[in-house]
Amino acid sequence: MDWQSRLREKIRNIPDFPKLGILFKDITPLVRDPATLRLAVHHLIHPFVGAPITAVAGMEARGFIFGSLAAWELGVGFIPLRKPGKLPYDVQSVSYALEYGENTLEAHIDACGPGDRVLLVDDLLATGGTARASCELVERLGAEVYALAFVIELDELGGRQRLSPYPVHSLLHF
Ligand code: IMP
Repeated sequence: MDWQSRLREKIRNIPDFPKLGILFKDITPLVRDPATLRLAVHHLIHPFVGAPITAVAGMEARGFIFGSLAAWELGVGFIPLRKPGKLPYDVQSVSYALEYGENTLEAHIDACGPGDRVLLVDDLLATGGTARASCELVERLGAEVYALAFVIELDELGGRQRLSPYPVHSLLHF
């Protein structure tokens, strides 16, 4: 079996979560298994080995899992991008529209800055709203977005187009 099929086998579809009509991709079986966890992280960072990245940023909460492991493997530090009110020091915030309502992401003002080239990591790219806001947050801090990496990309939701011209790397397309 090829590596993508091995990863796919460990992604569980949960109908109607968190809302009716949504088919949720659950990555917890994938991260529970040491072989598929390693495989996913290996392929996530593969295009960026040797690249001049200075930090990895991960979106709360599943982006923390893959983002920290990617940072570890690339030998750089990790920046948590968090939901509002969670970070203890001074923050920069970016709000973005959801289908219903609004979300906010925050980062510490000294998390990164000019001269930093940041790889953004999350488990899944859907509409791209979260990722787009994360790029804006990193740029407001004065750093450069080097690229974005996702385990799963839902092709029909147009996230990749919304993230143009940033380079997007995804392991599995649904
Ligand atoms: P977007 O902002 O529409 O691209 O949604 C992506 C964000 O929502 C990411 O932070 C994902 O973790 C989360 N997300 C959306 N759908 C799913 C899913 O089916 N499984 C896991 N996470 C999801």
